[in-house]
Amino acid sequence: MDIKMAAKLQEKNILLHRLVFLTFVMQRIALQLIYKNTNIKNTIIMVAFALVCVVIEEVLRAFRCFGSLIALRVLRFVQCTLVFVMLIFTETSNDSNTAIIAFLLVFVIDLFLTLDVTDKLMPIGFIIGLGVIISIVLFVRMTIIHDNKWIYMFFAALLIGFVLICGTNVLSDFVKQKDNELLDERRKFENIVEKNENILNMQNKLRNTNDQLNIQKIDLERANKQIKEANDEMKVQEDIMRQLSSSFDVKKISSHITEAIIDVKKLSFCAVYIKKNVYHNKHANYAIQTKISNLENKIKEQMEDLYVQLTSNGEVEKIIHDELWDEIPYLRNANINSVYIKVLGSEDDSYGLFMIGDSRRNLFDSNMSFYNTIIAQFDIAINNARLYNDMLNMARKDGLTGINNRIYFNELFNETTYKIALENSCMSVALFDIDKFKNVNDTYGHLAGDEVIKRIATVTEDFIDQYDGFVCRYGGEEFVAALPHKNLEEASPIINELFEKLCSQVVSYNEFDIHLSVSVGVTAFPEVCKDTTELLKRADWCMYYAKEHGRHQVKIDDGSIEKEYNNA
Ligand code: GH3
Ligand code: MG
Ligand code: MG
Repeated sequence: MDIKMAAKLQEKNILLHRLVFLTFVMQRIALQLIYKNTNIKNTIIMVAFALVCVVIEEVLRAFRCFGSLIALRVLRFVQCTLVFVMLIFTETSNDSNTAIIAFLLVFVIDLFLTLDVTDKLMPIGFIIGLGVIISIVLFVRMTIIHDNKWIYMFFAALLIGFVLICGTNVLSDFVKQKDNELLDERRKFENIVEKNENILNMQNKLRNTNDQLNIQKIDLERANKQIKEANDEMKVQEDIMRQLSSSFDVKKISSHITEAIIDVKKLSFCAVYIKKNVYHNKHANYAIQTKISNLENKIKEQMEDLYVQLTSNGEVEKIIHDELWDEIPYLRNANINSVYIKVLGSEDDSYGLFMIGDSRRNLFDSNMSFYNTIIAQFDIAINNARLYNDMLNMARKDGLTGINNRIYFNELFNETTYKIALENSCMSVALFDIDKFKNVNDTYGHLAGDEVIKRIATVTEDFIDQYDGFVCRYGGEEFVAALPHKNLEEASPIINELFEKLCSQVVSYNEFDIHLSVSVGVTAFPEVCKDTTELLKRADWCMYYAKEHGRHQVKIDDGSIEKEYNNA
């Protein structure tokens, strides 16, 4: 029981005390007056005791000692002890003992109220037990006492009645208070449970909100990644556009595009194939980017066949996943699982193949706009390169034969001799002239003559190309071949072989087979010709020498030729 409640109940019980004391005093006075043999000494002790108790209580009240549970307990304990002592030491008589028991009951109730009793059954049991004991005492006494002390009986019953009524009242207050406390506790507990539930709900809501935030975060990260990818793609496209618009060099453009695609898309490989003669290129062009060993060679080996296969089937693009290793077996070793192939150019004018692949599965099922944009730009670049090379060709190539004209040859010749002089290297030059060509014209006509000139040009160019040389139509039926980094010893067998090849040509025109013969002059820098600007002059001397010495021969410059022609 808390101190406030104990004090409250004590205050209420003081009234009981006063009534018990008053009744007791009145009883003693009445007994004393009516029955002369009443023990006066007992009366004095008891009245004095009652008065002392009242005074002590009043003093304690004045000093607010009822506010302390310990003080109350000590007081009630002292009172109980005193009453016991009195019960023992006062003269034993029926009248005094009953009154003392009444005192004792009052104080015991009070003592009980100061104790911390939590079980409400206990005070109820206590009251019932007390009532039973007192009733037995009264009953016994009424049967034993034969003298008619009715006053004593009346007051004794009154005292007991007060004790029981007031005690019950106080104790029921106590029980009620306890109930209230329990109720409060329960309410508090329910409040705590409710609050706990609220907290749990809040926690759940927080968890849900957190989950949603996490999902949003993931979405945002994904969106950010996509934006970054799109940005990178845009940058690459911009870069490629810049490259494409600033260059007609298809080889450079192709390798730049493949590199950029690999870089931004992190693919296993990216390859571009352009067949020959698309933009005046003599050979097919390959740009293949991959970090997988040996894959580049495999792609290079098979790409042309793949192009031919697709175009002959009329296919323009292909995405291969599941059947990939059956269709392109070499991709199995490279662990490529997705491939996208696109025929470059239009359906009726295709010029090559674009091919990408990666180890990731089903990679090219969607989001192909990046590749399509680049391919479209590449198409434009190829067309531009075609137009540009058409123009260049018109300026650089001979109209009849298609080989270099003299203007372009001079350009190439000057560039090459400059480099060779710088590198202290060597170069051989051969001048060819068709023998008695006038006769061909005269005999078979100019058109036949043209065919002969074309044949000589293409055979010469194809042959000299093998040795990284370059040729031109130098004049009407004269041709020059330059062999950089070849001295006379190296050049002589090449030129002799070409001579034999040319002289064995038979040009069929209408029903005629035209046989050919050429005269060739060969010189070399720096062996015999010390000045590169004199290379063509000395080759011309050698060629004339061959003409003058019976035609159909190769004259190699031996250094003596200048004596003959220098002053001519
Ligand atoms: P030689 O063995 O001394 O070189 O005798 P040639 O007849 O070949 O020499 P010439 O210089 O007398 O004759 C060259 C001829 O080549 C003259 C010219 O009509 C002819 N010619 C030059 N250009 C062309 C051409 O483009 N087409 C044709 N059909 N003939 C050409
Ligand atoms: Mg000539
Ligand atoms: Mg001639």
